[in-house]
Amino acid sequence: MGFRKNDVLQVVIEDIGNGGEGIGKVDGFTLFVKDAVMGDTVEARITKAKKSYAYARLEKVLVPSPFRVEPRCSLHKQCGGCQIQALSYEKQLEWKQNKIKNHLVRIGGFAEDFIDGILEPVVGMQEPFGYRNKAQFPVGYDKDGKLIAGFYAGRTHCIVANTDCALGVPENQEILEKVLWFMEENGISAYDEANGSGLVRHVLIRKGFHSGQLMVCLVIREKKLPCAEKLVEALREVKNMTSVSLNYNPDNTNVILGQEGTVLWGSAVIEDSIRELIPDAKTGEFAESGREVTFRISPQSFYQVNPLQTEKLYSLALSYAQLSGQETVWDLYCGIGTISLFLAGRAKQVYGVEVVPQAIEDARENARINGIENAEFFVGKAEEVLPREYEKNGIYADVIVVDPPRKGCDEKCLETMLRMRPERIVYVSCDSATLARDLRVLCDGGYELVKGRGVDQFGMTVHIECVVKLCRVEK
Ligand code: SAH
Repeated sequence: MGFRKNDVLQVVIEDIGNGGEGIGKVDGFTLFVKDAVMGDTVEARITKAKKSYAYARLEKVLVPSPFRVEPRCSLHKQCGGCQIQALSYEKQLEWKQNKIKNHLVRIGGFAEDFIDGILEPVVGMQEPFGYRNKAQFPVGYDKDGKLIAGFYAGRTHCIVANTDCALGVPENQEILEKVLWFMEENGISAYDEANGSGLVRHVLIRKGFHSGQLMVCLVIREKKLPCAEKLVEALREVKNMTSVSLNYNPDNTNVILGQEGTVLWGSAVIEDSIRELIPDAKTGEFAESGREVTFRISPQSFYQVNPLQTEKLYSLALSYAQLSGQETVWDLYCGIGTISLFLAGRAKQVYGVEVVPQAIEDARENARINGIENAEFFVGKAEEVLPREYEKNGIYADVIVVDPPRKGCDEKCLETMLRMRPERIVYVSCDSATLARDLRVLCDGGYELVKGRGVDQFGMTVHIECVVKLCRVEK
């Protein structure tokens, strides 16, 4: 028996879906209910029905979940950036731990007991708000024509005013208010994507969490910003302001940044560092090592958005790599070389591979400013560079580290890794489903999964990163 649109059902929410929606079952029929929290008993109205499942709107919470908390941001439902803010952070972590485990069991085909034995408890954040070092606020008008900055309401292009995102740094608000004040005082218009008119599109803000340095970049539709000196005057008052720049984006596109930019004041980049931490296997805590790698970040640079958790994730990857200083290490999908430069201090030689040329330029520059000479970088696809270098130059690896995008590693890449037979493989993943799929291939190809751990980089959202260690099984 199925259900139809507009049917109202009572349902207990038992799980969270990929998009953060609550999931419950009625007589074997699955309901996806946005904004319902795991543990709630709710009344939901079906909005779209299929044969065995339906999407439903939350009508009423009949019995609230014991894991419900008061969301810090009143706009979280409209925004969609934080899908699970109404769930306690503790429960969020528990759910993330289970998600990794379930993927490894169901998709990877590993035994549940085995996974319980090797999967360490997920590393949560000390403070699950205010963790993002980068924010990009669109600028526009509300329905009364008032100038605003905020976010696009989930899946739309309507801007909702909000200068105080709970995931961002407190400086965002001060900076945005100054920008809006500057625009109003000087009659500067906001971009209107409907007809391509107006000037200011986005305000990009970055902060170095260790250095404290702040960067503001105004993305505008024309090359010149009238009265720019007034903007500089206002922004210079913000403590630790280091860089004020413009980015020119004339195109009618969803891409935020254009290709060209100019510095209005201060430096073209901010600096920040990522510390190497020492994970304690017994307590699961992290201690300072006194070592760090410095990065120069421009408005365009890719840089991890949660630096405090990134340190923990990459430090775990480094400890899983078990380096003595003699190893040759390949770091595939290396981005700006964050992991490569971490590894370089502990290995004989590191080779990074990344498809985005600009990221490799940044990696080389970052190696240079840190005085690292044993890291070399290749531009190209991992699944092309690795087999090519293997066939042509017979390259060798003691350890291979991979940190692929959500879709995981290409088959050709996995296959070459297996042929290279490194001692260890460290797999950093932002999607445990594709991780599980790839681990099956590697474990069938002669590797053993020895350890794994989730690291929460994105509290309040459904995302979870993890890192696992594989060792070659001697035959
Ligand atoms: N560890 C990196 C981030 C990795 S994110 C850092 O900290 O900078 C995944 C990276 O893989 C991205 O930089 C993306 O551009 C790159 N990428 C995507 N597909 C790729 C492919 N087929 N080969 C190599 N790199 C790829």
